[in-house]
Amino acid sequence: MQTNGLPPYDDGNIFARILRGEIPAKKLAEDAHALAFHDIAPQAPVHVLVIPKGPWVSAADFHAGASAEAIAGFWRMVAGVARDLGLEESGYRLLSNIGADGGQEVPHFHVHIFGGRRLGRMVPLVSGP
Ligand code: 5GP
Repeated sequence: MQTNGLPPYDDGNIFARILRGEIPAKKLAEDAHALAFHDIAPQAPVHVLVIPKGPWVSAADFHAGASAEAIAGFWRMVAGVARDLGLEESGYRLLSNIGADGGQEVPHFHVHIFGGRRLGRMVPLVSGP
């Protein structure tokens, strides 16, 4: 599989372990393609993670390597979980950190869903670690 400059997929990452059931997670939705669960350290009243089930590090290798069905299933779950959590009316934010500049901590492609309050600026005005 290609990872476009990022390290190869590491089967021992925390989300891979959640997918294998080795680590518990507060699951919201699961199907053949994706899993949605609450973030362990929420940064907003709603903070959910959605991950594809395949071994993808970045958006680039997910979209290059996964099947069209898996890609559609993943994004359908992202939108469906946001809707089911009642976020459509008040609004919400989708965010994906990729690689070092993105601040990605877990090297398994994922999208954050944030909601439940006004979320402020998209990125800090100043750069920093
Ligand atoms: P990243 O910076 O990679 O986009 O975000 C990784 C996210 O995973 C962080 O928000 C962090 O709180 C969350 N996280 C890390 N370990 C665990 C865990 O074991 N369980 C859950 N539910 N979330 C985790």
